[in-house]
Amino acid sequence: LSSVELTRLYLDRISSLNPTLNAFITVDPDKSLAMAAAADARIAAGQAGPLTGVPIAHKDIFCTEGWLTSAGSKILSNFVSPYNAHVIEQFNAAGSVILGKLNMDEFAMGSSNENSYYGPVKNPWDLQAVPGGSSGGSAAAVAARLAPAVTATDTGGSIRQPAGFCGVTGIKPTYGNVSRYGMIAFASSLDQGGPIAKTAEDCALLLNVMAGFDARDATSLDRPKEDYTRDLAQPLTGLRIGLPKEYFGDGLSNDVAAAIDTAIGEFKKLGAEVVEVSLPRSRLAIAAYYVIAPAEASSNLSRFDGVRYGRRAAEYTDLNDMYKKSRAEGFGTEVKRRILTGTYVLSHGYYDAYYIKAQQLRRLIANDFQDALKQCDVIMGPVAPTVAWNLGEKADDPVAMYLADIYTLAINLAGLPGMSIPVGFGAKHRPVGLQIIGNYFAEAKMLNIAHQYQ
Ligand code: GLN
Repeated sequence: LSSVELTRLYLDRISSLNPTLNAFITVDPDKSLAMAAAADARIAAGQAGPLTGVPIAHKDIFCTEGWLTSAGSKILSNFVSPYNAHVIEQFNAAGSVILGKLNMDEFAMGSSNENSYYGPVKNPWDLQAVPGGSSGGSAAAVAARLAPAVTATDTGGSIRQPAGFCGVTGIKPTYGNVSRYGMIAFASSLDQGGPIAKTAEDCALLLNVMAGFDARDATSLDRPKEDYTRDLAQPLTGLRIGLPKEYFGDGLSNDVAAAIDTAIGEFKKLGAEVVEVSLPRSRLAIAAYYVIAPAEASSNLSRFDGVRYGRRAAEYTDLNDMYKKSRAEGFGTEVKRRILTGTYVLSHGYYDAYYIKAQQLRRLIANDFQDALKQCDVIMGPVAPTVAWNLGEKADDPVAMYLADIYTLAINLAGLPGMSIPVGFGAKHRPVGLQIIGNYFAEAKMLNIAHQYQ
């Protein structure tokens, strides 16, 4: 099969299924097929790498030269990026084909993909269900086989939770492992790009391309390139799995608990041992995250002012009025809520009470993980307390939506790598994701663990 043929197959599938699923914001068959033809030439010349000619779709948060890059927002709904994110550069250098740009919650704020200017994404397993968020388009595209593999980002769970809800595999790397250059910023100290694919093996191949030092991101880690496939075949004998007791208490639904239990049983059969660990401060993660993330967002999103790029209001009286109207028209409700919360917690008089406190909690939460990881090699637990909920179910209740992030946020606060793998089904035959949390730079180990299970 040539890359052109393969790309055509996916483009056909997208044109028949995307009107229902709404996973893609942009497809441009001519551009994709031109890249595929170039890849075929490269393959013919004997210069192919593992991902040469493979069609990959990208979350619409990655700036992609010559492609609309909207971040799911009206304010960027006319923004054709003049440059590539580091992640896109790396895939281009590998000879991958850009298959299109994927739907997402506006500026990656959300857990259900209902906050997109381009409309909600449907969960391919059940069209009544949300796909999760904010990378709902990414996870749904892989689940429905609209793309073999995709990119996504995770600020507080946005790779792991949609991967879990859609029954696919995703990994959020250690903070600093994948460059944030050209990745539209939400909360810079938490944002991290990563892959979603069918299997851990595919994720490892993608991470080999995505990860790596980039001097244009001030928090990019200057470490040698790794081969994330290197440990895939290692047996799991003697592996110590920590189960945090706080992740299995009240609030976890029975169907999800049962699927996680069965999966842990499988790991025991593969030779793993299970120990109970504790993350005593994990219940504070939601409070800390929903102060820190909006604070950073309010600062990052100040650049969308109608002046340099994006949409500008059509009518205004003076400069201030232009800012106000452009932002009032361009941002959706959830984004406005975050900007207001963020400016509030950063304001003089509240800064110490909220922002500083949240930063202190962040340190304690990170310390909890280090204590727990002294007793085990990896931590496992649920990705989310329930299976995917119905479209509309939490759409008007932001706090209910935030609470559903209980198991994913702390990992970003600590900067640790986290992964989601499908482990069967819960209520209404909707997928359940198991979360694997490793110490810093444990990605190859985590992918090995996931691969042995799969
Ligand atoms: N649901 C979380 C939020 O709304 C996380 C989103 C993300 O990881 N981008 O902030």
